Formats: sequence, C-alpha cells, structure tokens
Amino acid sequence: MFQCKDVAEEASNYLDGDLPLKKRIGILLHLMICRCCRNYLQQIRKTIKTITNIYPKEQHNTDVKSLAEKLRNLPEN
Ligand SMILES: [Zn+2]
Repeated sequence: MFQCKDVAEEASNYLDGDLPLKKRIGILLHLMICRCCRNYLQQIRKTIKTITNIYPKEQHNTDVKSLAEKLRNLPEN
C-alpha cells in the first residue's frame, strides 16, 4: 500500500503520466482513502496549470521549431 510520502515522492511523475501502471494504481488507491494527498495533488495541478498559462505549450513548441530551423541552417563544417 502506498503511503503519503510515496505519493509525495511520485507526485510529479504521476501528474506527468510517467509512472508504470502498477504505481499509478497504487497512488489512485491511496488517493481514494487519503484526503490529504488529494489536496496535495490538486495543489500541484493548480501550480502546473498556472505555469502552463504563463508559458503556453505552443510558445514552447514554436521555440523548439525555430531552434531546429536555426540548427538546420547552420553551415556545415
Ligand atoms: Zn496520503
């Protein structure tokens, strides 16, 4: 069974969807019985949302694209 500290440790991976199914289920089960961790995760989600609003993904994609273009346009040695 997952403990609160395990949830705290894996919280960002969990929200990123970066966890193996077994761990995801473990956290989900813990969230069902633990209000503390539900609040905790909700808080993190809100923070992530705020950050995403400040730095929208599209902007990020554009940056990567233009960076790739710059690299492609570099003269070869
Ligand atoms: Zn907990």
